[in-house]
Amino acid sequence: MQASFEFSPIGVIHSCFKQKFGIPRQPGLVTEAQASLELLPPYDCAEALTELTGFSHLWIIFVFHQSLRDGWRPTVRPPRLGGNRRIGVFASRSPFRPNPIGLSVVRLQGIVEQDGKRLLKLGGIDLLDGTPVLDIKPYLPYGDAIADARAGYAQAAPRALLPVIFSPGAEAQIQAAEADYPGLRCLIEQVLAADPRPAYQAGKPQRRQFGLRLWDYDVQWEMVDGGVRVTGLVLLSLDETP
Ligand code: SAM
Repeated sequence: MQASFEFSPIGVIHSCFKQKFGIPRQPGLVTEAQASLELLPPYDCAEALTELTGFSHLWIIFVFHQSLRDGWRPTVRPPRLGGNRRIGVFASRSPFRPNPIGLSVVRLQGIVEQDGKRLLKLGGIDLLDGTPVLDIKPYLPYGDAIADARAGYAQAAPRALLPVIFSPGAEAQIQAAEADYPGLRCLIEQVLAADPRPAYQAGKPQRRQFGLRLWDYDVQWEMVDGGVRVTGLVLLSLDETP
């Protein structure tokens, strides 16, 4: 058997998620999460995309590039189990695997050409900005959707637990920002409702301030009465971008 293989990216993700904090744990949970997949030469030719727009959803096969140095262990502690139950790495979707390859099914919203680049517009993503993409495959409902599949500890989608409210100041800032980032309010609401706090803080009612980067904004929020209150947006300058 061949002992190792070498693959190079066919594209790179430009995502609303600029840091791991706040990224949903699977695609489709935050429907407003958007990204562009920039195809790299020579894979950006029109021929390679012929008939692709006939598909509403795609599988994206990618590298967990920000986990490359972390290595892997035979067991992991999935956040959805509260971070305190160990399961086998192959029974998980953890980024920390022998070959750090991920796969996500995402919505294909269109294909555009911009500044000489060919971009696939994607929705419902769970991908970090800068993620290298190894392959794209169309989602085939007749084979990929299995209505009676069992899913162990992850049978049901995690529930959106937290109510999210916005301060009047945050509402005004978001309304202005939506001129450039349509759907920003809904994106913020969906991300925060899923409770992005690390597992060990869930259930602890203390009031704390948080910041979370979405697009070019630091979204500032606090825990109040078991819910989330968005207090403001700070536009980050270019030298704060990762
Ligand atoms: N849907 C994919 C899968 O099943 O292979 C990813 C699932 S994984 C549990 C999702 C998490 O991976 C996100 O919440 C984010 O923290 C992390 N992530 C996303 N893109 C990444 C990247 N390029 N490098 C490292 N971690 C990443």
